[in-house]
Amino acid sequence: MKKILALLLLIGAVPGLAQKVKPNPNKDAVIKSVEKHQQELTGLSDKIWAYAETALKEYKSSKELADFAEAQGFSVKRGVAGMPTAFTAEFGSGKPVIGIMGEFDALPGISQKAQPTKEALVPGAAGQGCGHNLFGAGSLGAAVAVKELIQAGKLKGTIRFYGTPAEESVGGKIYMARDGLFSDLDVCLDWHPDVEIAASTQSSQAMVDFIVEFKGKAAHAAADPWNGRSAVDGMEAFTDGVNMLREHVRPSVRMHYAILAGGDVPNVVPEYAKIWMWVRDSKRSGVEEVFTRVKDIAKGAAMIAGVESKVTVQTGDYELLVNRTGAAALQKNLETLGPINYTPEEIAFAKKIQEVQGGEQTGLDGKIHPLKETQEHPQGGSTDVGDISWIVPEITLVATTAPANTAWHGWSVVACGGMSIGHKGMLLAAKSLAMTMVDLFENEQLRKDVRAEFDQRKGGHVYKAYIPDGPPPIPSQK
Ligand SMILES: [Zn+2]
Repeated sequence: MKKILALLLLIGAVPGLAQKVKPNPNKDAVIKSVEKHQQELTGLSDKIWAYAETALKEYKSSKELADFAEAQGFSVKRGVAGMPTAFTAEFGSGKPVIGIMGEFDALPGISQKAQPTKEALVPGAAGQGCGHNLFGAGSLGAAVAVKELIQAGKLKGTIRFYGTPAEESVGGKIYMARDGLFSDLDVCLDWHPDVEIAASTQSSQAMVDFIVEFKGKAAHAAADPWNGRSAVDGMEAFTDGVNMLREHVRPSVRMHYAILAGGDVPNVVPEYAKIWMWVRDSKRSGVEEVFTRVKDIAKGAAMIAGVESKVTVQTGDYELLVNRTGAAALQKNLETLGPINYTPEEIAFAKKIQEVQGGEQTGLDGKIHPLKETQEHPQGGSTDVGDISWIVPEITLVATTAPANTAWHGWSVVACGGMSIGHKGMLLAAKSLAMTMVDLFENEQLRKDVRAEFDQRKGGHVYKAYIPDGPPPIPSQK
């Protein structure tokens, strides 16, 4: 009893601690708002899940989200940055300006029903194998909750939702950034579907995505091969060179390629060859170093084969600039909300997937993980959120929408994203991100601290996107 009294006195005496236990009506309001809109948000997510539209073809998905934002009173700009499926939705005026991003593109070829065994919803069609249906609807739910507080005069400033297409291909955010759409933000937030819940303190890999083409001269492969110059020889010399380079790069480097064109028939000396390649490393500077050598290999390979080579950069991502100050604010809100509780049916669903995929049957991880140390080298994978994190301080959440021990970008992620396991992760994301935005609107010192860490981590580096000049490569509408 005495101890409790002493503790209470201590809490009262230390302002930081007292603030922590003090209820915040604005945070209660955003939680209630997400619950109020729960049916609409899961409905939006399910529609985008069923549309499963791939990069830059997300016409229906983008329209669903933009229409909902408009109906909620946001001022919506569609088709921004030269992409018909990119949009912004804004509410309020003046500073601070807080941004939140939402994705919605699917991955080709992994259509799947919302069931724990593999069966395509539409054979051959795309599927939401990265959970972007949840990402888009969840982030918009958070934005709506904050908008309601601005509208009620409880918060001052501007909330802006970014509908960001093509995360899985050219990186729509990078084109939106090129048009200056993020330049006036104080802080930006995002989340990503995952197998655990955590305020992210980890970076992502930087990468460059490019095409290497070889042009030779066709000839009859038996009658007069001396008159021909084989583009495939050039490509083979190139891949040999790249594979020799593997031994002499840092362990953090990843290089992968796919051969897109390599001749048509054996009895014609191939005139043309094309290879699509990515180079990744923990930092942009590491990518640059390796990419320079790969470009030299392309030149050398062309000389060996007596052909011409051409390297064309398609896109690239920066590594994500971590913001631990922002993550710590998000962490407190996650802890306030507490873990996700799953029903026995949901756990059985997850275990069935793990069984089918031969993984350990651990079920679902709904607990709130503690803030982790930032690793020097991130796990494999890149995102265009990385680029945004060099323009504005970025706070990133990961939330459980599928079980561990299953293949990401695979059918099981699609399955969980179309049912209650995915929905629960999405709603937690919407609530915790909205609560963190409340912190950012209310607490000027937090915004300053987040910005100070951003400035310190960024140092003197001048951000320069990898994307080429000219409009985004919009595919034909089929
Ligand atoms: Zn993704």
